Amino acid sequence: MSHAVVIGAGPAGLMAAETLAQAGVRVTICEGKPSVGRKFLMAGKSGLNLTKDEPAVPFKEAFAKARSPLTPMLDAFDAEAVQDWARGLGQEVFTGSTGRVFPNVMKASPLLRAWMGRLGDLGVMVNTRWYWQGWTDDKLRFETPDGPRTLAADATVLALGGASWSRLGATGDWASILADKGIKLAPFAGSNAGVQVAWSDHMTKHFGAALKGVGWSSGPYVSRGEATLSARGLEGGGVYSVSRGVREGHDLMLDLLPDMTVPQITTKLQAPRGKASFANHLRKTLRLTPVQIALLQEMARPLPEGLRATARLIKAVPINNTGLRPMDEAISTAGGIPFAALNESLMLRDVPGVFAAGEMLDWEAPTGGYLISACLATGRWAGQQAANWIKP
Ligand SMILES: Cc1cc2nc3c(=O)[nH]c(=O)nc-3n(C[C@H](O)[C@H](O)[C@H](O)COP(=O)(O)OP(=O)(O)OC[C@H]3O[C@@H](n4cnc5c(N)ncnc54)[C@H](O)[C@@H]3O)c2cc1C
Repeated sequence: MSHAVVIGAGPAGLMAAETLAQAGVRVTICEGKPSVGRKFLMAGKSGLNLTKDEPAVPFKEAFAKARSPLTPMLDAFDAEAVQDWARGLGQEVFTGSTGRVFPNVMKASPLLRAWMGRLGDLGVMVNTRWYWQGWTDDKLRFETPDGPRTLAADATVLALGGASWSRLGATGDWASILADKGIKLAPFAGSNAGVQVAWSDHMTKHFGAALKGVGWSSGPYVSRGEATLSARGLEGGGVYSVSRGVREGHDLMLDLLPDMTVPQITTKLQAPRGKASFANHLRKTLRLTPVQIALLQEMARPLPEGLRATARLIKAVPINNTGLRPMDEAISTAGGIPFAALNESLMLRDVPGVFAAGEMLDWEAPTGGYLISACLATGRWAGQQAANWIKP
């Protein structure tokens, strides 16, 4: 019976293994960590956002420049398919108000347990603590608790993740192995990252406070969503979604009242102020929260003369920052294997029989379920193509 090895047990690798095993191939998963799916489980800690329930066009547009190479995979395993797959593993899902889809239980652990059960039923073997180190002749070479081991494979799927949250397994170490094979990789960069801010002492009392219902923009990237202040800067979905703009050198702007226009804000500010301080006036007329007012003053003191200028500032507060937080803290990474190094089967052009999937490919997308969706879709595609390679 032909044998496939899947290296990396995140969502991409597990989906590749499932697809290969369903095609009748004997599969061994090799995972460097002592247990599978560590980043997937971490993703579930804040609510496992599996996919986004939205029409196919905006869904694919979220993948920016990788949109066209990913299109066949996303068409073959779309947002609807992700939801059906989760339900097939006994996990009912719901769609939140912004179209984000979560399992009812929010966590990843019941889904992962059911998934591993399915893989076990399909006869998939799992070797944990098997750290891939490259090839010796035609065999895959691993460091294991019992010393170095090699495995022969008729096809291999690499699903080693990107290069953030390295403690969960995605170290990016694989880059040097592929570079030695002559594959030109795109440099890794933090994606969906927090922004670093050197706050003044005035802001300390606001650490932990959330900015809710605000708008963000940086260059061409625009988002609406929350961020939390911390000693290091700003973190959270709203700011992650535009962090690519900061990485590309654009200014970061905050809209404190995205549902109001400048004239509407100006009119509200024209209400009699009496003896109230300007901060109190902002609170009373516009319902700005203490953290919003503090941020306005932190970033734009002295505030401009004139109510219209203040209204314009409230719609576009410049967030002075010192760039993105370190890559290891980013939710995901850009960079990795460029699509030019792969054929349409996601097989490495220079290493026949070796396929790649998931975050190790050079695409990026904002948070919102796109990341896991694309990992599942590319994992499934690589698994199918690897099965076809073995059994033409
Ligand atoms: C805090 C957090 C929250 C997130 N929330 C969401 C969310 O809600 N929705 C969403 O869509 N995305 C979310 N993500 C992103 C998502 O989890 C990742 O994009 C996804 O897990 C990537 O899947 P992958 O299979 O490509 O790689 P990974 O999940 O990183 O898996 C790669 C595996 O390969 C193993 N490995 C690496 N190198 C080797 C080696 N040399 N030998 C053997 N094994 C190796 C690793 O140990 C790891 O298990 C979140 C990420 C984080 C950090």
